[in-house]
Amino acid sequence: MEIQGIIFDFDGTLAELNLDFGLMAQRVEELARVEGFSGPWPAGYLLEVVKLVSDRMGDGFAGRAELVIEAVELEAAGRGRLFPFTRPLLAQGRERGLSLGVVSRNCGAAIRHLLPEADALNAFLPRERAPRPKPHPDQLWDACRQMGLEPGQAAMVGDHPTDMQAAVAAGCVAVGVTSGRVDEAGLREAGATVVLPDAGEVLGALGRRF
Ligand SMILES: [Mg+2]
Repeated sequence: MEIQGIIFDFDGTLAELNLDFGLMAQRVEELARVEGFSGPWPAGYLLEVVKLVSDRMGDGFAGRAELVIEAVELEAAGRGRLFPFTRPLLAQGRERGLSLGVVSRNCGAAIRHLLPEADALNAFLPRERAPRPKPHPDQLWDACRQMGLEPGQAAMVGDHPTDMQAAVAAGCVAVGVTSGRVDEAGLREAGATVVLPDAGEVLGALGRRF
């Protein structure tokens, strides 16, 4: 099936953010402990941990945890930058008639800080617009619907195993990039069918390999 659209992850794929996930998790746990959470801290990715903890803590905790997480994300966005290839890549993708989207577990405000034109993409689904974010396929299916594509017509480009897992589960072509924190082996293990040094290579690879 011909690829007619590209869904990009943001952090580590289109931008260099150096988000401190450890600090984020620590601040959320501190908040929960202050509010009376006891017992062992759940394992897993932070957004999913917040859901688990919120089930025990009751109304309001999720919103307060979100503020803590957003503060770290916005601070990182203030220090971050788009990769040099990002804007030319998006412009060339548009010129080729490709539908373009961004899906992220980051918040929209942090992404817009670096990419104010994000809302003008064919699909823009930051965390607050994704009830079930990656690695769940829903976020990608929503993006495909907005882009008017079947999942098999879209490539998902990302730097993290959750991007590849979501792509495989959704039925999109899984394209890994090693511009983030995970190497080629880790991305292939998570389901990547193609691994590139960075997303700047993706349009060339689209012509060549898909
Ligand atoms: Mg990423």
